Amino acid sequence: MIIQGKITLKKGKEHSIERFHPWIFSGAIQTLEGAVEDGGWVEVKSYKGKVLGFGHYQNGSIAVRMLSQEAETPSQHFWVDKLRAAVTLRAAAGLPASSINAFRLIHGEGDGLPGLIIDLYDGVAIMQAHSVGMHIDRHAISAALQQVLGEGLKTVYYKSQSTLPGKMRSADQDEYLFGMTAVPHVITEHGNKFFIDWEEGQKTGFFLDQRENRKLLGDFSKGKHVLNTFCYTGGFSVYALQAGAALVHSVDASEKAVALTRKNIDLNGFNANYHTSYAEDTFDFLKDKQGQYDVIILDPPAFAKHRDARHQAVKGYQRLNMEAMKAIKSNGILFTFSCSQVVDRQLFYDTIVSAAIQAGRQIKVLYHLAQPADHPVSIFHPEGEYLKGLVLYVA
Ligand code: SAH
Repeated sequence: MIIQGKITLKKGKEHSIERFHPWIFSGAIQTLEGAVEDGGWVEVKSYKGKVLGFGHYQNGSIAVRMLSQEAETPSQHFWVDKLRAAVTLRAAAGLPASSINAFRLIHGEGDGLPGLIIDLYDGVAIMQAHSVGMHIDRHAISAALQQVLGEGLKTVYYKSQSTLPGKMRSADQDEYLFGMTAVPHVITEHGNKFFIDWEEGQKTGFFLDQRENRKLLGDFSKGKHVLNTFCYTGGFSVYALQAGAALVHSVDASEKAVALTRKNIDLNGFNANYHTSYAEDTFDFLKDKQGQYDVIILDPPAFAKHRDARHQAVKGYQRLNMEAMKAIKSNGILFTFSCSQVVDRQLFYDTIVSAAIQAGRQIKVLYHLAQPADHPVSIFHPEGEYLKGLVLYVA
C-alpha cells in the first residue's frame, strides 16, 4: 500500500482511536506531513509518535477514516484480507443459505471499511463508495473481490453517483468494473424471488436490510388485510402473500416502484386478484382508510439525512404513525420503521409513544427490530446502527 503522508494527532485525541472508533475529525489533527491527496492513504500517530494505524484521508469534517488499527503498514493483501473476514462473518451468520442468495458483503464501519458498501445479488456485486478514498481504490477492491469470490463472482458494478461527496458526482461515474450480467436479475430471499435492477433502482437496487423483518411479517399475515406503504420493490407485500394474506395493498409515491412491485408479485406466481398497488403519497392514501386493514407496514425513506433535519423528521414520523394507528382495525398489527441514522432508537421510540398518545389507542410493543447480521455494527461505532423498527399491537 502506498502511504502518502503522516498525521499526528493532538494530545488526548488518540483515545477514541485506541478504542477502535474509526473516524478522525479535522479538529483532532496537529500536523499533516507529506503531499497527501484527497482520498490518499495516511499513517496516523499519537502526539507521542506511537503509530495508531492507517486510513483514507479526506478534506472535510471526517478527515481520516481508519482502515487498519495496527502498527505495520497494510500489505498488498489488505483488501483480500478484509473481504475474507467479511465472508467469514456472513458464513458464521448462515449466509448465503439455500433459500437466500443475496446479502450485504461489506457494511462500512461494521466491516472495518468505512466508506464502502458492497451488496451481493447472487454473484453480482454492487459496490458503493461514500468516500473519496474508496472511489480511488475501487479497481483494487474489484480485483480483490474476484480473488476472494472466484467463480462465484459474475459482475462488479460500481454505483456511487449519489453517494460520493458532491464535487465528485458525475453522471458517468457508474460503470461495470468486471463482467456484465443483464438486468433485471432474479435473486432468492427466504425462498421468495425478486427482480433486481441495480442500474435504474434506488440505492444498490434492493433493500436487503429488511430481510428478517419481512420474514417476521409472514407470522402476522395469514388471512389478513395488509397495507404495505413505501413499498418500493414490494418486499413486504410478497412475504405477506406468501404467508396467505387475504388481500395486500401496496403504496409508493413512485410509479416505477409500483411497477416493480407488480412484477415481483407476478414473478412469485401470486394471484393478482389478491393484490392492488397504488402510486400515491402514503399520507394522502391513509386519510380515508379507517378500519380497513389488519396489518400496516410503514417503512419510509430516511426523513432526516442530517442532524439539522432531525426535528422535522421526528414530526414526520409522528404524524405518519399517528395516522396509521388511527386507521388500523382493532386487534391490528403495525410494523413501523425508521432508517434515519440521526434518529436513534430512543428518539424513535419516544416519537412512537407520542404518536400513540395522539391516536388515543391502546398499544403494546411486541418486537423491537433492527438491521440483520449482514449489516453488522461495530460495538465501538454505535452510529452504524441505523435501522430501527417496532411491531405494535393496536387493541
Ligand atoms: N419497504 C421497502 C423499502 C422502502 S424505500 C422494501 O422493503 O424494500 C422508501 C420508498 O418510499 C421509496 O420507494 C420511495 O419511492 C417511497 N416514498 C418516498 N416518499 C413517499 C411518500 N410520501 N409516499 C409514498 N411513498 C414514498
